[in-house]
Amino acid sequence: MPKFFQFCPKCGSSNHKFENHHRFECLDCGFVYYHNCAAAVMVIMRRDDKVLFTVRNNEPKKGKLDFPGGFVDPKESAQFAAKRELKEELDIDIDMDDLVLLDTEPNDYDFRDILYRTLDIVFEIELKDNQKINLEKSEIQEAKWLSADEINMEDIGFDSMKAVVKKYVLK
Ligand SMILES: [Zn+2]
Repeated sequence: MPKFFQFCPKCGSSNHKFENHHRFECLDCGFVYYHNCAAAVMVIMRRDDKVLFTVRNNEPKKGKLDFPGGFVDPKESAQFAAKRELKEELDIDIDMDDLVLLDTEPNDYDFRDILYRTLDIVFEIELKDNQKINLEKSEIQEAKWLSADEINMEDIGFDSMKAVVKKYVLK
């Protein structure tokens, strides 16, 4: 049982079950909570034969390669979340119509003792040559344009991203 679900949040009982890290049920008061899958987006940004990778500046996976993206906020579309994250992380304005939906991948995101299971929604976009990028330094250490032969899979943080890179970048 993870620490954050030691006690029922309604009655404080420790007599409960948490099946598959998904359905929490208190066996004393009947409280039920579903720790559902969270939606997240990642964007493969292409320019010529290169793809933009960011280097994470925060845990989890600090120092590892990532794609721009993040969690979808409540009431947002995935496309809007992608547009918002690109603005926040890279100071890039994109047209949502230019995003191409490629794939979805499940992922695990371990943040401060809470395991979130995500569904990563993968978009692709072609970037213009003159597009300027300004990094949000609190989230991203640096950004690198890499071609397929410059990518080291060991440098990639998340399993979902490894799968995506294999399928759509190293092809
Ligand atoms: Zn309870």
